[in-house]
Amino acid sequence: MLPEIENLLHLQDADKSIRRLQDEIAELPKRVAAIEHKLADTKLQLEKAQAAVKADEAARRKYETAITDARGKISKYRDQSLAVKTNEQYKALLQEIQFAEKEIAENEDKILELMVNADTRDKEVKAAQADLKSEAAEIEKEKEEARQRTAEDEKQLTEWRAKRDQMRAGVNEDLLRHYERVSKFRGSGISEVRDHKCMACQVMLRPQTYNDVRTGQQTVVCDSCQRILYFNPANEMQALEPEHKRSRRHHPKIDASQAWYYRAEFADAGEVFLCLSNVAGQATRRVFDMGTGRLIGDILIREGDYRHAFPEDIAGAIRLNGSWSETEMENWGTEMPMTALDSLHTDLEAARFEMSSRTSAKSDIPSTVPTGQVAS
Ligand SMILES: [Zn+2]
Repeated sequence: MLPEIENLLHLQDADKSIRRLQDEIAELPKRVAAIEHKLADTKLQLEKAQAAVKADEAARRKYETAITDARGKISKYRDQSLAVKTNEQYKALLQEIQFAEKEIAENEDKILELMVNADTRDKEVKAAQADLKSEAAEIEKEKEEARQRTAEDEKQLTEWRAKRDQMRAGVNEDLLRHYERVSKFRGSGISEVRDHKCMACQVMLRPQTYNDVRTGQQTVVCDSCQRILYFNPANEMQALEPEHKRSRRHHPKIDASQAWYYRAEFADAGEVFLCLSNVAGQATRRVFDMGTGRLIGDILIREGDYRHAFPEDIAGAIRLNGSWSETEMENWGTEMPMTALDSLHTDLEAARFEMSSRTSAKSDIPSTVPTGQVAS
């Protein structure tokens, strides 16, 4: 392997780590902001609940005053009734008293209603207060974690940047420019060749290109994806033992809570790896670029289990082996690690081999009439 290629590989490692750290640093404040938003929401809920309690109290005082007033009126009318001269006057006063009694009863009903509601109001206030307390504690914890994580990331970032500068110094300018241009568009600028294929874009190399990469005397780029190609004899040895390796392909479980798939076409993203999982009664879908392992778009969540939630993604896809925990995948951030990407590629290759040998086994059954019989 050319020393420049070796430097580029180290440079790619450094670039990836830098990108991951930068993404992580950018992501942390967003998380804190999301909780802060929730906290503001809860505060608003609490204020609303408290305002409702106050409004109820004011209403109650109003009803109580109305009752006192009505009672005052009644005793006034009773006094007056002692001094009336005519039947008509007496009747009129009685009517006034009845009217005031009705008013008292109505206001008493309203107060009773408020008392019944008061219990709910009280619960609302207490719940909002409890939420506020736990969210405030959570945000402090998150902030502290984010601060520590950022400091740690920044430290690592400085180290990786120093390493990167060192690696860049070991690569000639033209090659470096090419590497950086391709990296910018494709997420990686260098790719291994295995089994006559560019491992990043999975396109077969022309024999001459393959030989040039193998001899390692000059730098060669992939015709299809423009990545700089390199060859690692140790990995090629593994690729040359497919029969042995492939015969042991482990088959993914049909009822696994997580399933990986390969799709040759996905929206306008081209070839992708899909990860479908059942998490807490919901189905989640992650889409990764097959070449770079980068996460494409947002993680999609639907109700139910993934078989029913994403049937259109499963149809026609190749099921692969792969199992990583939710936490692990969350830690990947926007890009799966090389080890995960490699294992999916290897399994895809094995699955394809398996499928092609199944097809060729079928075609072994003579479907045409042997020539001897035609002649006779
Ligand atoms: Zn390529």
